Formats: sequence, C-alpha cells, structure tokens
Amino acid sequence: MKEKHWHDLVNHHPCFNVKCIRRSGRIHLPIAPSCNLQCAYCRRDFACVNESRPGVSNGVLTPEEAVAHLDRSLAELPHIKVVGIAGPGDAFAEPELTLKTFELIRQRHPELMLCLSSNGLNIEAYINDLEALAARFVTLTVNAIDPVVGQKIYEYVTWNGKRITGEKAAQVLIENQLAAIRLLKAKGFVVKINSVVIPGINDCHVPFLAKVLGGMKIDFLNLLPLIPVSGTKMETIRPPTAKAIKALKEQTSRYVTHMNHCVKCRSDAAGLLVV
Ligand code: SF4
Ligand code: SF4
Repeated sequence: MKEKHWHDLVNHHPCFNVKCIRRSGRIHLPIAPSCNLQCAYCRRDFACVNESRPGVSNGVLTPEEAVAHLDRSLAELPHIKVVGIAGPGDAFAEPELTLKTFELIRQRHPELMLCLSSNGLNIEAYINDLEALAARFVTLTVNAIDPVVGQKIYEYVTWNGKRITGEKAAQVLIENQLAAIRLLKAKGFVVKINSVVIPGINDCHVPFLAKVLGGMKIDFLNLLPLIPVSGTKMETIRPPTAKAIKALKEQTSRYVTHMNHCVKCRSDAAGLLVV
C-alpha cells in the first residue's frame, strides 16, 4: 500500500481523523455472536466491552440480515462511509460469519470502507482474506504483552479446541496478537490497538506496552479506562481517572499516536460519531 493511499484511508475514517466526524459516519453490524476467550471485566450477556460500550445488549444478525440492515441504514444515513464489525462477541470466534458479511457488502457496496475489531486470538489466519476484501482497518485489543500481567486479565482462552488458563493462556493470546500485528503492518493495514487500563493490574505496564507496540509501527493506541461491570471479577476495581489516563498518554506519546475521541459506540451503532 502506498503512503498516499494510507493517508487517504485514514483521512476519511471518522475514528482516525476527528476532522471528518461531521461528514463521514459509521455503522456497526452486530454479526459476531460468540467469543473465544474470557476477559475478567466482561459479562457475556453484554456486548464486547473491548470496543463497544458495556451494559448494552445487542441482538445478533445473520450476514444476510446485516446486509439488509445496512441497505436500509444507507438509505436513511447516506453519510455512512465505514462499516465495522465490533461484536457483540469476537469477529474471529466464528470467522466465517465475519468474512461472509464482508463479502456480501463488497458485492453490493464496493465504495464502503470495511473495519473490524477483535481480541486478536484468531485473526492471523484470515488476514489474507481481509486483504482480498480490501478490509483495511483493524483494531486489536491488547491489554498486556507480558503473560504475567495478562494472566490477571484473561480467565481463559479457547485455542485449538482446548480451554487453557493462567500464564499459558495469556502467552498464547499475546503471541497470536503480536504475530497478527506484524503481518497486518507488513501488508499495509491501518492498525489501532485498544488497551483497557486497569488500575493495579496493567496501568504500570502500559508504558512498556506502548513502547513495544510503537516499535511495531502501530498506527494508533486507544487507552480505554476500565468500566467495572457488575458480576465480573473486576467489578470492584475503581476505574482510572481522566487525569491518570491523560498522564499515561503524555508519558507514552513519544512512542505512539494516541486516539483521543473514541466514544465507545454500541456494537450496533449507526450514524455520525457524537463526541
Ligand atoms: Fe468480552 Fe470482548 Fe473480552 Fe470476548 S474479547 S471476553 S466479548 S470483552
Ligand atoms: Fe470509532 Fe471508538 Fe466508535 Fe469504534 S468505538 S467506531 S473506534 S469511536
């Protein structure tokens, strides 16, 4: 991908260029029903809180229903330029649903930008498919790059049909995430990393994470304060203050470009971003 093409892509995506939020909208299609791991801050009866706002339960659509919904939405909201998949589970827990949805959209709306978010456990094998579909925007949620930290965040990971736990689970996840980032960047994707900042768990680790991921040339880092969800292991952790997030951004801005206007949309959000 040529440099100019990269800038053209980023400039027209409302999540990456705050200047276009009044003219370019996005729609999230809730087609991903399940997840292949368990974050300690997530309740699975809500949408994936790595990208979407927690506490909002979404219906799940089939790929065909999602495309019909997209057609209706485009008729009402013609400023939609980006179609994203952000839950309610993980986009690659059942990859065939994500790829089918994107294929159907590509047939009908070749002009739309395709975007997705994932925990990164199972995306690497599908990056060539995403490239063929010109789905050029990928967000991965990476909360730790050290398994000792990661084991406090992930209760289990389902990999090769087996449920694994503890440090080994975090290690598999982190290795897969880093391999995916390397391949995505080698192929010229726009890569945003979401990191949920969890006081006492990974907040002191975030500067190292930013340094390593910055060295891998990620395009944006989006630091998201933990939102404690009742009924989860992290329900009693006090979220980081806005001041703490600001300090972390200042501390790490020499390594990465921060995203500052994410509003944590629902996984079925549609229209212009309201920031
Ligand atoms: Fe929940 Fe998303 Fe984590 Fe899966 S990846 S457990 S849906 S927050
Ligand atoms: Fe953009 Fe954040 Fe909304 Fe995702 S959740 S569409 S990154 S503003």
